[in-house]
Amino acid sequence: MINEADFVFFPEQLFDRSQVLKAVSRQLGIPEKEISSYRIVRKSIDARKGVKFNVRLQVATKGDVFPDLRGNFDFHDVSTSKTVTIIGAGPAGYFAALQCIMSGLKPIVFERGKSVDERKFDIAALNTQHILNPESNYAFGEGGAGTYSDGKLYTRSKKRGNVTEVLQLLHYFGADEDILVEAHPHIGTDRLHAIMRNIRNKILDCGGEVHFSSKLTGLKLFNNKVVGVVINGTDEYLCDNLVLATGHSARDIYYMLNSEGVALREKGFAMGVRVEHPQALIDSIQYKRKERGKFLPAASYSLVKQVDGRGVYSFCMCPGGKIVSALTEDNTIVVNGMSNSKRNSPFANSGIVVELRPEDYASYSDNKIFSGLEFQKTLETLAYRNGGGAVVAPAQRLADFVNGSGVAY
Ligand SMILES: Cc1cc2nc3c(=O)[nH]c(=O)nc-3n(C[C@H](O)[C@H](O)[C@H](O)COP(=O)(O)OP(=O)(O)OC[C@H]3O[C@@H](n4cnc5c(N)ncnc54)[C@H](O)[C@@H]3O)c2cc1C
Repeated sequence: MINEADFVFFPEQLFDRSQVLKAVSRQLGIPEKEISSYRIVRKSIDARKGVKFNVRLQVATKGDVFPDLRGNFDFHDVSTSKTVTIIGAGPAGYFAALQCIMSGLKPIVFERGKSVDERKFDIAALNTQHILNPESNYAFGEGGAGTYSDGKLYTRSKKRGNVTEVLQLLHYFGADEDILVEAHPHIGTDRLHAIMRNIRNKILDCGGEVHFSSKLTGLKLFNNKVVGVVINGTDEYLCDNLVLATGHSARDIYYMLNSEGVALREKGFAMGVRVEHPQALIDSIQYKRKERGKFLPAASYSLVKQVDGRGVYSFCMCPGGKIVSALTEDNTIVVNGMSNSKRNSPFANSGIVVELRPEDYASYSDNKIFSGLEFQKTLETLAYRNGGGAVVAPAQRLADFVNGSGVAY
């Protein structure tokens, strides 16, 4: 029989098999020699009073086989099936394509950017020569913003849907099994390319289609229904079903939809700055020890505060990560944060954002649908100018920024 129970371990204990076996034997009353193996099925850190790991363990005695944590997916041959046209090969577009395949439908994906294999050269040119390719960058290209995202896989939202299946799919396509058990799963930017390539290959193997350098530029409507798409300004394709998965960065899509007569409505969003700290500082605050040592991961934090009736909060905190240029349009600056799977950079960074409402930026456009987009663009352009007119983000101390004092450099 497989036994399952919760345990609390000091970091050095958890990584010492003999100490874990002793604790398991004591707590479950099973003699150590009868335990054939154990595995962690849930893991989180509690650093409130001394640092401890809370883990749920499954314990096998002789002859027991652990139940499979992996998902079981039915990918059909959809080469001759009814089609669904999907715009955007980001996480939303690719997961929609996989869902189509599992439901017996053929996905046809159009992506404005390049495959992950080609995209990396444009990212290199942006990082080293500050040359932006507006169609292939940190936000556009196979995997969307997701490919160069940090790959943190948890959410504070209550509308979570079937998170387990998403994690199982990511594991199926190459993420470590750890993501199925960690309370705060993380993949890391360095691992996401291969996962995206594997998803694409599955779509193609099942008879779906993925087209790169293929930007949606118009819709074909008949009786108020979408009947076709226009790609790259000239190529027209009929479609019965259309999924728009163009993400947050493609501002042009809203202007196109508006010109095609599609009903749109403005909404609030959050905006802010990236703050960067030495990782050792965050470790010492969170773990309350001078050094985090070899058993603890780079520490993270989460801040939420109400200021004058508005939410101000940390967002997308990246322990052991770096800040990157996530712009898609020339003469703007946009920053975001990412980290590799080892989270071993000496810096931590985090978005500190404030909730904005449509009335805050109503004056930025005569058409209220676009005022938020225009406001965003105005700030991004100002950041570019203050950065000296190069793809270099202006920087200053956070306290100075909050107080409106000091200089940006
Ligand atoms: C540096 C960075 C770090 C991040 N870290 C995290 C994290 O740790 N955890 C997390 O949950 N989220 C993170 N995010 C956010 C996350 O990446 C996005 O929420 C996610 O990628 C959104 O997925 P999406 O598919 O909706 O859109 P996107 O990823 O934006 O993908 C949209 C795709 O559509 C394509 N597209 C747009 N317009 C057109 C068009 N007209 N025609 C054809 N194709 C088009 C784009 O090229 C893009 O590939 C991060 C983002 C960045 C940039």
